[in-house]
Amino acid sequence: MFPSMRLPNKFIASFTIASCGAYTFRRHLIGEALAETPEQEPPVMFRVESLSHNTKRLRFEYPDQTWTCGLQLTSSVLVFCWPQRSWFPAIRPYTPVSSLDQRGFLDLVVKKYPHGKVSSYLHTLQPGDSLYFLGPLPGGYRWSAATSTTEHSRVYLIAGGSGITPTYQLARGILEENSDGHTKVHVVFGANTAQDLVLKNELDILQRRFADRLQMHYLVSEAGPSPGESGNKDVSYGARVTTSRLQHFFGAKRQGGEKVFVCGPPGMEEALVGGKANGRGILEELGFEKDQIHVF
Ligand SMILES: Cc1cc2nc3c(=O)[nH]c(=O)nc-3n(C[C@H](O)[C@H](O)[C@H](O)COP(=O)(O)OP(=O)(O)OC[C@H]3O[C@@H](n4cnc5c(N)ncnc54)[C@H](O)[C@@H]3O)c2cc1C
Repeated sequence: MFPSMRLPNKFIASFTIASCGAYTFRRHLIGEALAETPEQEPPVMFRVESLSHNTKRLRFEYPDQTWTCGLQLTSSVLVFCWPQRSWFPAIRPYTPVSSLDQRGFLDLVVKKYPHGKVSSYLHTLQPGDSLYFLGPLPGGYRWSAATSTTEHSRVYLIAGGSGITPTYQLARGILEENSDGHTKVHVVFGANTAQDLVLKNELDILQRRFADRLQMHYLVSEAGPSPGESGNKDVSYGARVTTSRLQHFFGAKRQGGEKVFVCGPPGMEEALVGGKANGRGILEELGFEKDQIHVF
């Protein structure tokens, strides 16, 4: 159905043309290969689930059932595809939401953007279609169980929209990797509507498993349900990520061993970390130092 996926020669040709750049890119950015193509058969999609009006969960089966994705916490994979039979591949990073040690398959949650080249293409995939991956793409922050015990007693994760995928991967990793650890995790997840709170079921399960260590804060900007309509009790409606709200969640006084991770649309990231339009960011106003903040 998608000839570009069946054309390794095209892949090789376009890669040969860009070989110097690609070599440097791979050499510096990409470690151990997950499913390096075209040497291997590409993973094949075998399940697709609609999570909201614009978001799907896509499951890809590896050619070898013993494979794991080979990623570390906060890293992602690069997806290669040829939308509209283009000659050069379009390449975008995506963060798997399946467990990192899951054998045999990998799950991506993909939000479709209006006119989005790759996300629109991924939303057209059907079971049986294949996709080229390369990875891992390092996330720029090396998290390990040792990091949490030595450096971080409290971790704040702030996600907007599809930024929830690395956030979910990291929250689960921190909690599971050192399950007897002391790191407390707060997740603030902002979205436009309650339907856009994708992965909420998974996050709620995580919250129940680690009730003493994980606190979830769901904020949606749409107005709350009308009288008589049922809404989500744990969701704050008509709410955005603001200084006063984060101060309420994280406390006014900064303590040692705190770390904040941010992943969201550009406007939200700029409001949090500052920029030309916003000056000082909300996090700085709350007393966080620059080296305590990591933006994905
Ligand atoms: C490390 C990393 C991990 C990521 N993981 C995921 C993931 O797991 N799931 C997922 O759905 N996406 C993820 N993304 C985003 C993804 O890589 C693409 O940027 C996204 O799918 C849009 O690509 P596109 O080709 O469809 O859009 P493009 O053709 O590049 O852009 C089309 C339009 O969409 C707008 N747009 C593109 N990206 C965004 C955005 N993030 N926020 C708001 N508007 C945007 C652009 O401004 C443009 O107008 C991740 C990004 C990074 C950097």
